[in-house]
Amino acid sequence: MKNVRVVVVGAGVIGVSTAVCIAEALPFCSVTLLADKFSPDTTSDGAAGILFAAKFPDIPVERQKRWFKDTFDHLLAIAQSQHSPEAGVMLSSGWQIFKEVPAERKPFWAESVIGFRFMTEEELKRFPDHKFGHAFTTLKCECSSYLPWLENRFRKAGGHVEQRSINSLQELSNSYDIIVNCSGLGSRTLVGDNQVYPVRGQVLKMEAPWLQHFIRDGDGKTYIYPGMHSVTVGGTRQEEDWRLDVDEGDTDSILKRCSRLEPSLGHGKVLSKWVGLRPSRRNPRVEKELVQLPGRRVHVVHNYGHGGWGVTLAWGTALDALGLVRQCLQEMPPQAKL
Ligand SMILES: Cc1cc2nc3c(=O)[nH]c(=O)nc-3n(C[C@H](O)[C@H](O)[C@H](O)COP(=O)(O)OP(=O)(O)OC[C@H]3O[C@@H](n4cnc5c(N)ncnc54)[C@H](O)[C@@H]3O)c2cc1C
Repeated sequence: MKNVRVVVVGAGVIGVSTAVCIAEALPFCSVTLLADKFSPDTTSDGAAGILFAAKFPDIPVERQKRWFKDTFDHLLAIAQSQHSPEAGVMLSSGWQIFKEVPAERKPFWAESVIGFRFMTEEELKRFPDHKFGHAFTTLKCECSSYLPWLENRFRKAGGHVEQRSINSLQELSNSYDIIVNCSGLGSRTLVGDNQVYPVRGQVLKMEAPWLQHFIRDGDGKTYIYPGMHSVTVGGTRQEEDWRLDVDEGDTDSILKRCSRLEPSLGHGKVLSKWVGLRPSRRNPRVEKELVQLPGRRVHVVHNYGHGGWGVTLAWGTALDALGLVRQCLQEMPPQAKL
């Protein structure tokens, strides 16, 4: 008999990771994953999925390091196991290059990735517009494979799945004891958070199997990420832009910028084009609150607003959300946990 009813709203990489962490760690809870969109239709599905992050301004760096490292270690174990091809997780080596030396020469995650070092003058000769760079091995997590794999793990842990749209968290308050909100951009309407906003990103999938190393311009707008079956090239970062249709002006600009970094891309073939909206926020919201709804107070744990780094931080923030769910359980009256 499962005693505590938990619902996780959102089936992108944040929601599915959070649901798995809760279902596996708290077997006495009945966990439901509820969303209007599941893989392959979420924003997470189209993300390049490279593990890499910029620093959020108001979150202690030690916490951000932990989010990065927990996710890296979790995905590294998958990349080095027999599950790697099915889960879509692989090691990826390459370079991040800068036109100007950045203020922080060494990023906060340098110790978490493998073999981080500064590029040599010799290596930089290949990129004449750039004067500084990082060389390292990170991971690439392709969510169109990873999400179905993780959903399967969730079901094996006894989790339930429900596909529907909700208009407010209030709709769930009679059926669940704890609501975990992983709705990304949906939090604008679900919890009225106007601090979450879209940053539009367009990417292309290309056939260019000779490319084995990633190349990323430090400005975050131009990148080439070889993956399991194709190369993701991008991109754009257009703030407050809600357009989900492909912009051919962006396509031309992406191909031009990427070919400048890697001229052999001119021989590649464009397989598909995709647009997604990053659920951006000054800082991600990973916290709990007790919400007073008509006739009932409900524990709500929030985990959304990861912007361009949701894949990179998913497992780490999911573990924090699990910790917050444990705190909610401790605060609940004893009969609710019987
Ligand atoms: C072009 C591009 C490239 C990217 N590359 C990278 C990368 O290399 N590395 C990286 O770490 N990140 C990358 N990202 C960022 C990453 O995609 C996001 O941070 C991540 O997908 C956010 O996940 P999420 O689960 O919060 O949101 P989503 O994937 O958008 O999921 C939100 C979920 O909430 C559900 N939902 C919302 N509202 C409701 C409602 N009212 N009722 C029911 N369900 C609801 C949706 O149906 C969906 O299931 C990239 C993003 C883009 C656009």
